Amino acid sequence: MLLSRVLPSNTTLLPTSHARAAPLRYRHVPAGGGAITVPVRRSFAMTIRARDAAPVLDVEPQPLKLLDRRTKLKIAVIGFGNFGQFLARTFAAQGHEILAYSRTDYSDTARSLGVAFFDDQNDLCEQQPDVVLLSTSILSAEAVLRSLPIQRLRRSTLFVDVLSVKEFPRNLFLQLLPPDFDILCTHPMFGPDSGKHGWAGLPFAYDKVRIGDSDDRVERCRAFLEIFDREGCRMVEMSCAEHDETAAEIQFLTHTIGRVLAKLDLKSTPINTKGYETLLNLVQNTCSDSYELYNGLFIYNKNSTELIEKLNGALDTTKKELFERLHGIFRKQLWLPTGLVFRSNLCVTQMLLSGVLPSNTTLLPTSSHTRVAPLRYRHVSAGGAITVPVLRRSAMTIQAREAAPVLDIEPQPLKLLDRRTKLKIAVIGFGNFGQFLARTFAAQGHEILAYSRTDYSDTARSLGAAFFDNQHDLCEQHPDVVLLSTSILSAEAVLRSLPIQRLRRSTLFVDVLSVKEFPRNLFLQLLPPDFDILCTHPMFGPESGKHGWAGLPFVYDKVRIGDSDDRIERCRAFLEIFEREGCRMVEMSCAEHDETAAEIQFLTHTIGRVLAKLDLKSTPINTKGYETLLNLVQNTCSDSYELYNGLFIYNKNSTELIEKLDDALDTMKKELFQRLHGIFRKQLFESSGRRSIDAGK
Ligand code: NAP
Repeated sequence: MLLSRVLPSNTTLLPTSHARAAPLRYRHVPAGGGAITVPVRRSFAMTIRARDAAPVLDVEPQPLKLLDRRTKLKIAVIGFGNFGQFLARTFAAQGHEILAYSRTDYSDTARSLGVAFFDDQNDLCEQQPDVVLLSTSILSAEAVLRSLPIQRLRRSTLFVDVLSVKEFPRNLFLQLLPPDFDILCTHPMFGPDSGKHGWAGLPFAYDKVRIGDSDDRVERCRAFLEIFDREGCRMVEMSCAEHDETAAEIQFLTHTIGRVLAKLDLKSTPINTKGYETLLNLVQNTCSDSYELYNGLFIYNKNSTELIEKLNGALDTTKKELFERLHGIFRKQLWLPTGLVFRSNLCVTQMLLSGVLPSNTTLLPTSSHTRVAPLRYRHVSAGGAITVPVLRRSAMTIQAREAAPVLDIEPQPLKLLDRRTKLKIAVIGFGNFGQFLARTFAAQGHEILAYSRTDYSDTARSLGAAFFDNQHDLCEQHPDVVLLSTSILSAEAVLRSLPIQRLRRSTLFVDVLSVKEFPRNLFLQLLPPDFDILCTHPMFGPESGKHGWAGLPFVYDKVRIGDSDDRIERCRAFLEIFEREGCRMVEMSCAEHDETAAEIQFLTHTIGRVLAKLDLKSTPINTKGYETLLNLVQNTCSDSYELYNGLFIYNKNSTELIEKLDDALDTMKKELFQRLHGIFRKQLFESSGRRSIDAGK
């Protein structure tokens, strides 16, 4: 409150003498000596005492020189760091005269930009610039402004700031600048990274806090704003309070997501999805800004604590939903012994589901373990029993269920494929993704058959596909390829229900599930050995692939392809569909895929779904980073929750990943709050020191 000027800055915080257990309160002691109590959060309180009021300058009024009609301005940039230099480049390019002052010596950079650098603020102020532009870090703004010899400026000078929060500098200016100075608070909603290819279309927020009504002053303000207007910025006039309610909040959120992800040390992979690339870009964009900037957004935005708690809450809810669902599946499979470690159960279920443990196993609790004793898992294979250590503190007896019956189908001759390699492809699971793929298959001239739980006959007709509501009928058509495109969660049941005895024994089975070890193990377990198996993952979807598939990664693993020419040719012909569309073909094992792809997808979807819970709205001043987040929400949430859930359950690394994300957010919060606490402690210490000095006088 103090920092963001809800309380005036000429106040000092003094601890009240309340006991630790009693709820603390804040007291505000105004200049006169009285005291009011300001309740601040339930568990804190301090006495706030007014410091000496800032001296009011007594500057002789000087006539304001009429601005050159070409409206060239003399602009002094105070704080010539990253952003100050970025702005100065364009100011200079538009022919304005630029002076600069900064804590660090940037005289070489200034020279290269045609800017006059001053290492003494007095010298700079004596140049009597038309505009003083404050471009320091948010955290240092007050100290820098207080140190400026403003008495050397023309009294009418226009003060502008470009800080990423607005109420704070507004109140600071109003408090520290004598009433004759003009004040314009602005926020270019872009930075050296997002604005590197020009500023056209990027939002520029401003608030004419105090502009004298003489023509000169009005014209000077207009001339300054025109700099941004000319570059094509979208000019948005809004109050500082309004800005902070939206802009500071969305910026803080964007930076927080970027910095939390940075802690996960994400790596680019050869099979990045578009969504994952969005995350990588976000990390790069936000982390190229200084930590000071991020910290300022936190400290000087009174909504930031609430926002970070909301983010935390959204992550917790997402986790809860995922774990509850997993737990539901687990409960169905198991009788849960008391005292079993929950997280370990999840890991075992994930191992079981993703095929690390064979799926024809049942988990049975061992009987003798107590809550404190370390639990272990025992794997009982077809007769014997082995112990599978799963995390250090867990154990279960895993007993083999009856083996799946091996089908005994008469071998049938494999018809030689048409040399034009047109395939008859049966799409099993004709939902969102199945239809999306079928559209391109059909466009390439392949014959499409479709089966799904739901009746999609109209859609199928419009795509030129034959829809079957009976699996037997479909299988009797003897497709060359059976493509499994059901949800991950339903894949096993759907495959088990297929009358595969009606297919040609040599049929090629393909899946497009977003996890790969699970369908691989399922196929190997449920399909007789004569069937060919190709596991694939198009790393794109109806949203990211709507403008074509060129350059998008397609992962495949030839799990079992018979070595006759026909079979090799059929597999090649199927892969060629994607190759022809320009996909980047990546051959990798299912295990390798799950280690990277399933993980990055799960992370991308988790961020999208966590953000969706915050109910983010588009604003007139969206930053590019924030737009990235909005797109991510749209892209991930247009996929079904089933898909997301499948990514979680059938990827054995997902529990660990979500825990890492949680830890990263916790660390981030800790760092932010520690810093805030540090500033708070410093204020307290300084003020108590000042009191001791005062007392000694
Ligand atoms: P999805 O929700 O994962 O799957 C929907 C499909 O699963 C529909 O065909 C649906 O049939 C079927 N299904 C769901 N529950 C079923 C049940 N109990 N019994 C029978 N069928 C059931 O969404 P999707 O986007 O269409 O994805 C399909 C597959 O492609 C998934 O395995 C996914 O991982 C993979 N994939 C998707 C994308 C993508 O961007 N969307 C990208 C690559 C891979 P009905 O519609 O007939 O109910």
